[in-house]
Amino acid sequence: MKWVNHVAIAGSAAAVWRPELVPVAVLGSTAPDWMEWGLQLLGRRVKHRTVTHYVSSWAFGLAFGLLVWDWHYALTAFAAGGLSHVLCDALTVQGVPLGWWSDRRFHLFGGRFRTGQMGEYWFAGGFVLVCFGVAMLTRHWGGEYSPFFFDWAEYYKEGLIDAAEWKANRFRWL
Ligand SMILES: [Zn+2]
Repeated sequence: MKWVNHVAIAGSAAAVWRPELVPVAVLGSTAPDWMEWGLQLLGRRVKHRTVTHYVSSWAFGLAFGLLVWDWHYALTAFAAGGLSHVLCDALTVQGVPLGWWSDRRFHLFGGRFRTGQMGEYWFAGGFVLVCFGVAMLTRHWGGEYSPFFFDWAEYYKEGLIDAAEWKANRFRWL
């Protein structure tokens, strides 16, 4: 899957969960690929979508972050980003390995997508829309954070901006 789609998916999921973690999640969502370059720089030959694309290691990282140790959710966000990457790659024909014990490729939903074709863009676009919808709902149903919006009315109440600024910006949400 293309980076732009990996980034869109992990970024919008993080935006709904914890907006401040978007950069970490985005970093994680591209990690399985840039880690391959890193290993190559260290002189190791890595085939694409092998060691850095094990579903099991990213799932383990996520579980570790959630259950054992983390620092401001950074590990969790990074591992969740990486897991989203390998799961999205599992939607493509090439698939990903589950772990070091197996050469078999793991596919989700039959692995129909071909990297770079429209399917993955539709998928990523749909995912972003769902996140956007969730963000709207949590905002209207009493959520105190608003990942996709700047809450101008709230800033106004807190005296951060003056009335003119609020008037100018109250319909500008993005
Ligand atoms: Zn990849």
